[in-house]
Amino acid sequence: MDFLLFLVCYGLVASLVSVSVFCGEWPIFQGTFIERIHFFLTFAGCDYFRRMIDCIFGAKGTNALNTVQYYCCDLPNPTLQFIYLAMVGATYAFFVKSCFIYIPGFYLGEVHRYISLLAVGVGVLLFLLTSFSDPGTVNAKNVSQYVLAYPYDDIIFSEKECKTCKIPKPARSKHCSICDRCVARFDHHCGWMNNCIGETNTRYFMSFLFWHFLLCIYGTVVIALIIAGKLEELRVIHILTVYYGIENSFKSLAPHVAQWLLASFNMQLLIMVFLAIVSLLLAGFFLYHTKLCLTNTTTSETFKWEEFLNNQRRAKEAEASAVALKESLGKLSHDKKPPPSKWRNFFGRSRLEDIEVVKTNMYDKGFVHNVYEIVFPLSTRQSFSSNKEKSR
Ligand SMILES: [Zn+2]
Ligand SMILES: [Zn+2]
Repeated sequence: MDFLLFLVCYGLVASLVSVSVFCGEWPIFQGTFIERIHFFLTFAGCDYFRRMIDCIFGAKGTNALNTVQYYCCDLPNPTLQFIYLAMVGATYAFFVKSCFIYIPGFYLGEVHRYISLLAVGVGVLLFLLTSFSDPGTVNAKNVSQYVLAYPYDDIIFSEKECKTCKIPKPARSKHCSICDRCVARFDHHCGWMNNCIGETNTRYFMSFLFWHFLLCIYGTVVIALIIAGKLEELRVIHILTVYYGIENSFKSLAPHVAQWLLASFNMQLLIMVFLAIVSLLLAGFFLYHTKLCLTNTTTSETFKWEEFLNNQRRAKEAEASAVALKESLGKLSHDKKPPPSKWRNFFGRSRLEDIEVVKTNMYDKGFVHNVYEIVFPLSTRQSFSSNKEKSR
């Protein structure tokens, strides 16, 4: 059972680290230990490491670390792309080594050897497509067409010029400091892809996320079917009940079957747990981005909206407080009536509760239209080319 304990710990630690690193900043984890682990792994841990390097190697060590950090975080570089390829390659190699001997099996035909290779191949192709496709670069030639295609809402986007590119900044675009270019309908700069995710490659990015989610689920199910097939083929339940006299109930059989699984399929179980965790993470990412796509919002815009709504809320709060103060001062000087009961004050509605802030996203034109815009970006349409004529 030692391996079972190891497997459980491995699953828990891997899930905790993955969820903390990738999702630690999500509002639902605010104030929880997940947020604290995220802070430690992404900031405090790095800070301790920096101090340790400074103590051991002095200024030379710190300078070398700064150079590495500048190269990895502030310049376009393929480090994470290689890590992705190594991770996919290593996981598939482990899968081939430990699972192909059971394919074909009781529940799986030989075709799954080829399907698995094809599925990984498609995943890598989607990765390359997202990494090397143009995200929708805005330049002097096409900027006028982009300005016409994406009108300013005068809420979170107003007419501006990009200080670096010295061209007008179309609404929904952003200058990526890593790639050093303006990108239309900018979502985010993805380190894994070493590319921006923008107007024209959001569709590939979404396909990448969904395909990798399916790939992980497929791997998990294949391993589960291999194990279930072996259980059936070797008549494990029959042997346990007939030859070892174990009662034919789930409660009595489960520990014996678990022992047999852990002894015979430890590598397969490790890969299965890993794939299951990654599939959950990918499902989270995919659902988050699906929600953004369905409401025609980008990751970058969610921050802008948050800032706008907070400012609006604060302004209204200040206004409501000023009115309340004025009213109470007026009552103090003129009102001879007894003060309202403290119970009424306590249970009465506060003016601040009535504060409502409105988000009017003019780019959200309904689910169907929004999805259509992701699949067929504005700059790939005929109307975009005719914008050139209009702008002349
Ligand atoms: Zn720019
Ligand atoms: Zn970028």
